[in-house]
Amino acid sequence: MGTPLVAIVGRPNVGKSTLFNRLIGRRKAIVDDQPGVTRDRNYDTLEWNGQEIGVIDTGGYLPKTHEHIDLAVREQVEIAVDEADLILFVVDAKTGITDIDEDLASILLQSNKKTLLVVNKVDSVEWEYEIGQFYNLGLGEPIPVSAITGKRSGDLLDLIIEHIRAVPARDMDEDYIKLAIIGRENVGKSSFVNTLLSQPRAIVTDIPGTTRDPIDSFLNYKKRKYLLIDTAGLKKRKRIKENVLFYSNVRTYKSMQRADVVLYMVDVNEGLTHHDITVLNEAARQQKGIVLVMNKWDLIAKDHKTIEYYTAEINDRLGNLNYIPQIYVSVLEKQRLYKTLDLATEVYEERKKRIPTSELNEFFLPLVQTTLPPAVRGKEIKINYVTQARANPPLIVFFSNHPDLIMDSYKRFLENKLRERFGFKGVPLRVVFRKKN
Ligand code: GDP
Ligand code: GDP
Repeated sequence: MGTPLVAIVGRPNVGKSTLFNRLIGRRKAIVDDQPGVTRDRNYDTLEWNGQEIGVIDTGGYLPKTHEHIDLAVREQVEIAVDEADLILFVVDAKTGITDIDEDLASILLQSNKKTLLVVNKVDSVEWEYEIGQFYNLGLGEPIPVSAITGKRSGDLLDLIIEHIRAVPARDMDEDYIKLAIIGRENVGKSSFVNTLLSQPRAIVTDIPGTTRDPIDSFLNYKKRKYLLIDTAGLKKRKRIKENVLFYSNVRTYKSMQRADVVLYMVDVNEGLTHHDITVLNEAARQQKGIVLVMNKWDLIAKDHKTIEYYTAEINDRLGNLNYIPQIYVSVLEKQRLYKTLDLATEVYEERKKRIPTSELNEFFLPLVQTTLPPAVRGKEIKINYVTQARANPPLIVFFSNHPDLIMDSYKRFLENKLRERFGFKGVPLRVVFRKKN
């Protein structure tokens, strides 16, 4: 199954964002992060006891004006009920139960969604006397934590994992190539999916007896099976402005987690925004295959140099993500839609591929002899051995006598050479350096 999603909900100021940071912060000690990756501060993944989970915080999505706050919070809970696998409903030991808390509790109760009732701000023993009152919300046993001190956050994570494990698996059948179609509103995601599905070459299939997201669609193309995950799919109940963003982010991250390859769609007239880059970075961090689909190409006045010009411009914006291939399409004119599927399939295969250790060493050992890693503090640095420790997604390990002294610029040099020689088109790589004399 894809990574399960946990949503943190509750009224303002109960400590949702603090709790979010606390839960995510615990991860940082375990998983080494790739440098230079910016992240949406409302969403992150963590690993606890070998289980990966995505966590989304509603704390950052509130309207500035006060009049809508109750409504906004209510809506967030409804969205979380629809979309998340588990809900952390946060209340505040210091203020006790408020009207909004009761309101939100009753939505959760009626929904039958798995919910953990988290009583925050239990910073010291004296506050433990306040816990009992929260039984009145009817959501079972209140779980005390102190987000600020971190007290009992490990226990909370244990409980989260326990409940997540009980969630039935959402995904089936591994021989589907899972493609998530992601991008901002109105870039053409639904049109893309609908157009593909209406083509005679695409045989649309349905799989009986499987539980699936109603927005999933299946298609057969060139003897392969695809699962299309359409983020836009189920729109568009009217919502408060802030929640439109919250909703679309929840859908985006959920779809991304299930995918092998992300088709990130952009309106070529608008170009890549900061938000696009943030989401692309998250896809890279999750090591999904990525294809950049530049849509509405029909609206651009072009000559023979136009694609070249756009490609260079976008590569520039992509910075260290510039290994992501771009394809210029028009959904409206049905231009290059199958080429997009072909490209996604190629990236899917690249993500699965495994380079034999002998080939890696034959290539890299002479290279690191001629271009030595710069010595640091008078120490000679050697790279002795390279291997691909994992495929799908790939993990490349370089062994060195002083892995901690290798400079970032040299690491980038090695990664660039790796791509130059071995491809990995559209595939975010994890390259690590380990100790071996
Ligand atoms: P949100 O609006 O629910 O996201 O709440 P925030 O995380 O922004 O926290 C609201 C306020 O409560 C901030 O001043 C936090 O420092 C404080 N807070 C959060 N967690 C705790 C806690 O465990 N104990 C105490 N005493 N204060 C906390
Ligand atoms: P979504 O919100 O990303 O799912 O976008 P939609 O599929 O709903 O498309 C938004 C708008 O863009 C609709 O009016 C589409 O007809 C239009 N559109 C989609 N693809 C193209 C394209 O290739 N060219 C042009 N000119 N318009 C397009």
